[in-house]
Amino acid sequence: MSLREQVAAASRRLAAEGLLIGTAGNVSAREGDRIAITGTGVVLAECVADDVTVVSPTGEVLEGTLVPTSELDLHLCVHAGSGSAAVVHTHAPYSTAAACVLVELPVLHYQQLLLGGEVRVAPYATFGTPELADGVLAALHGRQAALMANHGSVAVGATLAKAVENALLLEWLAALHHRATALGTPRLLTEQQQLDVITQALQTSYGTTQENPR
Ligand SMILES: [Zn+2]
Repeated sequence: MSLREQVAAASRRLAAEGLLIGTAGNVSAREGDRIAITGTGVVLAECVADDVTVVSPTGEVLEGTLVPTSELDLHLCVHAGSGSAAVVHTHAPYSTAAACVLVELPVLHYQQLLLGGEVRVAPYATFGTPELADGVLAALHGRQAALMANHGSVAVGATLAKAVENALLLEWLAALHHRATALGTPRLLTEQQQLDVITQALQTSYGTTQENPR
């Protein structure tokens, strides 16, 4: 599958999961000096390869007819600064709600450690601005995801599939926080509990399939 097709398929998957709504949100993936990114105004649930434009790391169009998303600078900045292979930006319902209220998403559940711990909320700035891109890059430091104040979420990954999974995980965690908070004051995992999870995960290869020893 071409890189453009992969980005289109990831966009359709995220739309089907309810994370990309209408034309809101964008997806990019990098292969060497080629970054495939969704075009501006594309209905993401129906995204096809022709809706994805390939640009250089500085944003020059290399392939495709559509103008790249208005968040092109955000994607280029995160690709350059984090070295990630893929970037997913959404206005997903629970993530965006959390981004309107919280200063960080605390660790209630050990699965959040897959994102690197507390998820930071980047300061609000107008969409499409370098200020927003810089704030998001800083919030992503040592993390696989960040929230964007009063705007949405960003997830990255070593592969496009990982970035998609991280965006889905962040939305699940934001929904968990919402529901837990509705019931009362959630208990947070302590630093020691988090360290124990990491130790246990390393010892048991958590999250990977394993052959049954015979
Ligand atoms: Zn946005």
